[in-house]
Amino acid sequence: MFNSLSDSLDSAFKNLRGQGKISEKNISDALREVRLALLEADVDFTVAKKFIANVKEQALGEKVMKSVKPSELIVKIFHDELTALLGGDNEPLDLTPPARIMMVGLNGAGKTTTSAKLAARLKKEGRRPLLVACDLYRPAAIDQLATLAKQIDVPVYTPDASETDLVKVAKDSLKWAEGQNGTLMIFDTAGRQEIDEKLIGELKELHNFLAPKETLLVADAATGQQAVSVANHFDEAVGITGIVLTKLDGDARGGAALSMRTITGKPIKYAGEGEKIEDFTEFHPERMAGRILD
Ligand code: GDP
Repeated sequence: MFNSLSDSLDSAFKNLRGQGKISEKNISDALREVRLALLEADVDFTVAKKFIANVKEQALGEKVMKSVKPSELIVKIFHDELTALLGGDNEPLDLTPPARIMMVGLNGAGKTTTSAKLAARLKKEGRRPLLVACDLYRPAAIDQLATLAKQIDVPVYTPDASETDLVKVAKDSLKWAEGQNGTLMIFDTAGRQEIDEKLIGELKELHNFLAPKETLLVADAATGQQAVSVANHFDEAVGITGIVLTKLDGDARGGAALSMRTITGKPIKYAGEGEKIEDFTEFHPERMAGRILD
């Protein structure tokens, strides 16, 4: 996803690296190039501006100018700031029982796939996750979750196709869970092509009923700035506790991933990097920064 950004950053820093002694002008020129690279990658304008200002302030500091290898120090500052921009440290899920995780997001973002990926991962960690299909609009989504659940051997609650009351489904699933010997539940909810009030109203009701420890927004990183505004909308509506960025394996420009944390204030907890169940990792800001700068 970050190939083009990585190339542009590489070329911006190459000029600096070539010079033993660097001037303020060298630094300003390089950072101007970096700023353009960020904007080209679809990073939010104010985020990019503030980011560059932070890097610049440190880069122009005395310690850097007087160091033996100033360019290396500047790349290090950039790396650290990028890590901070992405959230600093990985923030793990709150899994204290009864741990209910509600997955929300637009259609096609990857909610159903991610619900199964997360279940598989938690199972691998020795937990006993349960899946609940709460998309009452698309019977295909219920079937899709049931198929994935079977594949990863995780129990799944599926409502009747005629069911229309989401809170009733949630209630029934809690009853079902009692017999499953598990309290860690992942609820896959309905999405829409775009945010609409009816959907939000229903999700709010479900959220109120479940009082989930985690409400994860599944966001398609390839949708760029739109992903960030979607995150804000869902957060206002149901209060998200974290973000799962999907499709980081694609060739979109990646800027949304870089703006997401700052603009929403919510941690990116996981990353989807492919269609397969195992293409799923904890999101580690430092590793991601390293990859971008590699
Ligand atoms: P939902 O409508 O939000 O439930 O989305 P789905 O889970 O049905 O996913 C929509 C499509 O995106 C499917 O074809 C998934 O295989 C695909 N998908 C989900 N996550 C990823 C990812 O991380 N990378 C890629 N390349 N495809 C993904």
